[in-house]
Amino acid sequence: MIDFRSDTVTKPRPEMLEAMMNAKVGDDVFHEDPSINELEAFAADMFGMEEAMFCPSGTMSNEIAVKAHTNAGDEVICEYNSHIYVYEGGGIAFNSFCQVRPIPGNRGRIKAHQVLDSINPDDIHRAPTRLVSLENTCNRGGGSCYDWNDITEISNVCRDHHLNLHLDGARLFNALAETEQTPRQYGSAFDSINICLSKGLGAPVGSLLLGSSAFIKKSRRIRKVWGGGMRQAGFLGAAGLFALKNNVHRLHDDHLRALKIAEALNKKSFIGEIMPVETNIIIFEVKGSYTAKSLAEKFKENQILVIPISETKIRIVLHLDISPAMVNETIQFIDSL
Ligand SMILES: *Cc1c(COP(=O)(O)O)cnc(C)c1O
Repeated sequence: MIDFRSDTVTKPRPEMLEAMMNAKVGDDVFHEDPSINELEAFAADMFGMEEAMFCPSGTMSNEIAVKAHTNAGDEVICEYNSHIYVYEGGGIAFNSFCQVRPIPGNRGRIKAHQVLDSINPDDIHRAPTRLVSLENTCNRGGGSCYDWNDITEISNVCRDHHLNLHLDGARLFNALAETEQTPRQYGSAFDSINICLSKGLGAPVGSLLLGSSAFIKKSRRIRKVWGGGMRQAGFLGAAGLFALKNNVHRLHDDHLRALKIAEALNKKSFIGEIMPVETNIIIFEVKGSYTAKSLAEKFKENQILVIPISETKIRIVLHLDISPAMVNETIQFIDSL
């Protein structure tokens, strides 16, 4: 099977498994797991942030950030298609008792003036605006990357209005591979950042939440209360550290492969609009003789897995376990349709 459904499907290779088997471990709830401590220190330094905390999933990392930044009844500003709003099971309401102010963006990206216009006045009728959350790259935006100027403008608006600014950077390294900024610039623009180790970086499990020491202290308490404090987590931490050290530099290759597949799709009459391919995600419209479902079935008959994300749209995601040969095979199949 050639599995393009998500970049979460990667499985550890022998080198990563070896790093996991050789990991020194201890009880991470006691802060005694050397591999987790090393991973957290490595990531914090990389982003120039005071501390990092390992989490079982990106969802938990984002949800802890929302909880740590807000009080019950606050309002959270994010884009309509954000993962934290669409794909976290209503977690902002469920976990943090906050309401969301969703803003329509351009393929997932919002602008500083939209944030400014969405801040509630200090009025007892209105929910206090407390947090802004951005996503980079934007999953439902087809892997779109934020413009750095837009981020700094939003960061300034947040500072001026005492709002916390969170980044869902599940695929931040994909954005960094295509833009000029450094992790440290991101570290200075945001109050907290979530990065996923189990997406394009190929670790089996885990995300990191980054922020100030005070923020991470609060977050560790929330993680414990939610049952996310793990014991000998270093086996997973070692995979994460291996991923950060070895699998970041190759992301651009995934992006080139995505472009090649998009070019092949573009020649087909039953393919409608293809979102601009900026990173490792291709989202395209299906029309004419196929529906998203029937085309996905056709792919599957040929051992290629893709995911229909609506009646008319399909998503393809490139990742570590997709080889150049698999890309060629897929292009040949598309050409044959
Ligand atoms: C995958 C993803 C997450 C976190 O997902 P988990 O499956 O919980 O690790 C968060 N945000 C975005 C944009 C994602 O794509």
